[in-house]
Amino acid sequence: MEPNFHVADPVRITFLGGLGEIGRNCAVFEQDDRLMLLDCGLMFPDADMLGVDLVLPDFTWLRENAHRVEGCVLSHGHEDHVGALSYLLRDLKFPLYGSQLTLGLARSRIEEAGLLGRTSFNPVADGERRRIGPFDCEFIPVTHSVPHGFATAFHTPQGVILHSGDFKIDLTPVDGRVTDLGRIGALGRDPGIRLLLSDSTNAEEPGYTDSESSVGRVLRDIFRAHPGRRIITACFASHIHRIQQIADAAIATGRTVATLGRSMAKNVALAIDMGLLNIPKHSLVDIEAIGGMDPGKVCVISTGSQGEPMSAITLMAAGENRRLTLSEGDVVVISANAIPGNEYSVNRVIDGLYRRGAQVVHAGLAPVHVTGHAMQGELSTMLALARPEHFIPVHGEFRHLTHHSRLAMEMGVVENNVLLAEDGDVVELTDAGLDFVDSVPSGYLYVDGIVGDVSHGVLRDRRVLADEGVIVVVVAVDATSGEVLSEPEIITHGWVYAPEAEALLDEARQQVLAVLEQAADEHQVDFETLKRRVRKSLARFVNERTKRKPMIVPVVVEA
Ligand SMILES: [Zn+2]
Ligand SMILES: [Zn+2]
Repeated sequence: MEPNFHVADPVRITFLGGLGEIGRNCAVFEQDDRLMLLDCGLMFPDADMLGVDLVLPDFTWLRENAHRVEGCVLSHGHEDHVGALSYLLRDLKFPLYGSQLTLGLARSRIEEAGLLGRTSFNPVADGERRRIGPFDCEFIPVTHSVPHGFATAFHTPQGVILHSGDFKIDLTPVDGRVTDLGRIGALGRDPGIRLLLSDSTNAEEPGYTDSESSVGRVLRDIFRAHPGRRIITACFASHIHRIQQIADAAIATGRTVATLGRSMAKNVALAIDMGLLNIPKHSLVDIEAIGGMDPGKVCVISTGSQGEPMSAITLMAAGENRRLTLSEGDVVVISANAIPGNEYSVNRVIDGLYRRGAQVVHAGLAPVHVTGHAMQGELSTMLALARPEHFIPVHGEFRHLTHHSRLAMEMGVVENNVLLAEDGDVVELTDAGLDFVDSVPSGYLYVDGIVGDVSHGVLRDRRVLADEGVIVVVVAVDATSGEVLSEPEIITHGWVYAPEAEALLDEARQQVLAVLEQAADEHQVDFETLKRRVRKSLARFVNERTKRKPMIVPVVVEA
């Protein structure tokens, strides 16, 4: 009998977010009992998540395994990849690895949360291969809508696992730093790629993305077409190449640039500092200085391309931006697409801008935006170069993951080797292949305010409050006799407008009084019972009279 077949150690990957939604990307690689995070991002809430600021991955499993965490590799600096670090670092302590810019972008939230002492920032260079604990990571340049993103190749006992990060294949990127297809192809040939995890955001879109530099040409035309008029642009504050192209178009047409919005000012300073953004000093002025300038000599680069409530553009559209008041003839260029969920806000902002007399140019009218995520043609190219044995689509809603799986099969990955994993799944790569082995908690963690989680119960309450309103009933009852000591007071918001519904409110008061008097006759003095009876009878009354189901909050005070 043949002795000792070599059996290599298995490698596990646990998906905590990003597989089933666009956002809160977080995968955990496990090797030799150690854990390496790949990204730790947040998600922006849907309109029905009332009052929720952010959605995070469920970190329960990571907290339980905190002692095993070696670090976190960051693919790039977008919030959906780095934005949850300022929460996870409250409980865990681990170092970060990524490009200089990625670390710079990640740093600001961590700093604001006062958590700089709980991590360290370790820059890695394009093409660098670095051993971090048992993990042997190689950082491969990719193009995306923020500069200096990486695909990460994990050289493991189970062979190479390549994670694409967010990427597109831009052959003429603004900074000339192209996706390193050569290296990906080389890995695909030798030693071969055991498993590919690849960005699915645009897996439904046929064809190829346009190059970022095509936006520059469009912007130049717009600037040339509006001499003498003030031009205000909005884009993502992390889209340094877009900012560069806006600044280039402005400067080429004799304008001076000013930034508007805190994150825009911050990121522009950071990128200039790192040599990633080139705006000559004399071409950059403070926003306070533009008031007295000839409109034709000014270009403002602002935040708020997503219609975020307190952003510079949103305030401008409402006429409430302290630093900039729109005037007739201003041209506003929105150089971004509304990400799903933000369409309503963006449309409202555009309406507001028109109302103030501005002319608006957006992606629906001119090609002032291109996507940062690979479309089918590029995804196929990635699959053709990597020639992976196994495939898992990542970064997408379920439909995106499904389309990407089909594409992988069309490109020759064996059907059984394509795994449609979702948040919470744990997969294991062994000599025998790739399979699901476990699952961990992976629900949404809602954050409202600086700290504190919002539970599903709180959200449900908020939905009731938003849909039906609230009625608060305050009564004073004698603790021993149960006698009602004061006329019940009824306060309502969102049920009926109190000043116009006195008669109805009076009836409601009588209803409550009757319930309490009956209880007093029965010598019922248990406050919980009284509250329950008040709530029940008032709910019935409200429903009968108005066909509504507001939240009813009885407050029984002892006197
Ligand atoms: Zn991204
Ligand atoms: Zn992303």
